[in-house]
Amino acid sequence: MKQIKNAIYLLAVLTLRFGVCTDIQRCMPKIAIIGGGIGGASASHFIKLKFDGNEDLKIHLFEPNKIGGRLATIFIDGNEYEAGGSIIHSRNRLMKYFVNLLGLKETPYSDANAKKFAFWNGNELIFKSSNYQVVTLTKLVYQYGLQPFQLNHYIDSILDDFEKVYDNHENNQAFKNLTSLLSSMNMKYPEMLKTSTEEHFKNLGYSLKFIEEMIKVSLVVNYGQENNVQSFVGCVSAAGAGSSLWSIKGGNKKVPEMLIKQNDNIELFSSIVDRITLNSTKTEQTQYTLRYKSPGSSEDYHFENYDIVIIGKPLTDDHDMPIKFRNFDSTKNFKFPGKYQITYATFVKGTLRPSYFGDEDFFDAIFSCDPNKTTISSISRLETVKGTVSDVWKIFSKTSLERQVINKIFSEVVYVKEVKWKAYPQYNTRQRSDRFCLHDGLYYINAIEWAASAMEMSAIGGRNVAILAHKNYMKTCDNNNSQKLKKIKPHSSQHVEL
Ligand SMILES: Cc1cc2nc3c(=O)[nH]c(=O)nc-3n(C[C@H](O)[C@H](O)[C@H](O)COP(=O)(O)OP(=O)(O)OC[C@H]3O[C@@H](n4cnc5c(N)ncnc54)[C@H](O)[C@@H]3O)c2cc1C
Repeated sequence: MKQIKNAIYLLAVLTLRFGVCTDIQRCMPKIAIIGGGIGGASASHFIKLKFDGNEDLKIHLFEPNKIGGRLATIFIDGNEYEAGGSIIHSRNRLMKYFVNLLGLKETPYSDANAKKFAFWNGNELIFKSSNYQVVTLTKLVYQYGLQPFQLNHYIDSILDDFEKVYDNHENNQAFKNLTSLLSSMNMKYPEMLKTSTEEHFKNLGYSLKFIEEMIKVSLVVNYGQENNVQSFVGCVSAAGAGSSLWSIKGGNKKVPEMLIKQNDNIELFSSIVDRITLNSTKTEQTQYTLRYKSPGSSEDYHFENYDIVIIGKPLTDDHDMPIKFRNFDSTKNFKFPGKYQITYATFVKGTLRPSYFGDEDFFDAIFSCDPNKTTISSISRLETVKGTVSDVWKIFSKTSLERQVINKIFSEVVYVKEVKWKAYPQYNTRQRSDRFCLHDGLYYINAIEWAASAMEMSAIGGRNVAILAHKNYMKTCDNNNSQKLKKIKPHSSQHVEL
């Protein structure tokens, strides 16, 4: 009799994960991911891994525009160029992992290999590189002493700490908020969000000239901002100005495209989600109802319920396609202060006039160290996404460039195309409290952008929420099922091991 009772119990335990018994909840959630950028795509990939690719796992991914979001390309004369996120650092492990996983190829990033680059203060070129690396290095030492090398060394040490996030995630450790994620890398990193880049590098002993020129150039070029931004992003930006940079052959957007296409648990909805409603928390698992609709359609809204919702788009109120949160008790988790920096990427096919920059020499890239004087933040000759040289230039600026300005910079202009981006957060040093976990089962990838915005960061944010979502869901599901099992557990001291 005792054996029969135990057999019944064992059967009930085994049904926990397979949901054969109607009373026992199946631990296989229905998940919504809002946004098909690299963040949402990364989350979808790691969620699938966490649930062992179980065919019953349902992921609905909502993306009304092209997959890739801020990873996008532009066609000019039949050639394709990166229009958004372009460069990847050699130590960005997740992007490397995706490239290998998807059978893609790396291509050295053109700016990093620019034969000739210069820094421009609006009046003159204050640093000019040479075609010969040894000459460039000598010029750097002459102008800044050993500080460029010290900076390289320092950034390497930051990256050593940064890489701890990969090990933590590998060990299934994830973080509810940005502060705990940064602390896991180095206890001092959250403090970096409260210190300006200028102060940070001054404290490290760098000269004002070096900070005002080299450090600022990287921030102006990579984030359209200056040395008053918090110092974590200041360091990420400095890393992005280093060597060993690359991009993905065929376009960086191939990563989110292929991650989503090859994931057979995903059903893609070409729709805008505009509302997330918290359903009664009295049920065993919290559930959400999403309201969504195809862009521009006159059809009625659709509604669908989910166990887990992952948001992979910025929630600051300056963004299009906003999302409303309904029925949540606490409003404190649903405040998303701040704004995103508007950056114009202008693509020009033409011949550069060096005289515009007060010089006679031709350069492949010119970077501003004083954007208040220079109108443009940077200008660089592009390679196509296939890695071939071109005569197309990309200009980054904070405002739209008038045709008169373009005609001053170039002669023989044959093509102009402008892309306006809400590119990355406008950073400062104010206290923030960005959270990955907004509520039970509701997660926000783009909290990570307030440390630094980059494709690797969103990929890490996506992985972080995938681990959190899986862990929390399984915990609640297992707890609920244990409660039910207690009711049918035989009164026996015998322990059943699984
Ligand atoms: C000009 C520029 C240059 C950059 N340069 C670099 C670089 O060199 N290196 C680097 O690493 N990073 C760079 N970045 C940053 C990098 O591109 C971003 O950090 C990263 O791509 C963000 O990815 P994401 O998935 O988090 O967000 P996004 O790519 O913004 O994806 C969000 C997606 O959500 C969708 N969406 C929005 N609202 C809704 C809604 N209500 N319902 C459904 N879907 C919705 C959007 O259509 C979008 O596709 C650059 C960015 C820009 C703009």
